[in-house]
Amino acid sequence: MADQFDLAQDLDAIFRQQALAAHARRWAISGASRRTCIDCDEQIPEARRKILPGCTRCIDCATFYETNTGEK
Ligand SMILES: [Zn+2]
Repeated sequence: MADQFDLAQDLDAIFRQQALAAHARRWAISGASRRTCIDCDEQIPEARRKILPGCTRCIDCATFYETNTGEK
């Protein structure tokens, strides 16, 4: 019984570590995609973040930025 309990605890710890690692990977892959715009701090719509993983600006600021710098 004691062994089963230890195993369950080990699995639980492993699962938690994997979940954390997966979470960290998602953030790394998405370029730490932000929920808010770096320029105006407005919320970036979920749909926009899905289409543009890693986007850091809201639509207005991105348009403004691209228009003025020619960068994306
Ligand atoms: Zn903005």
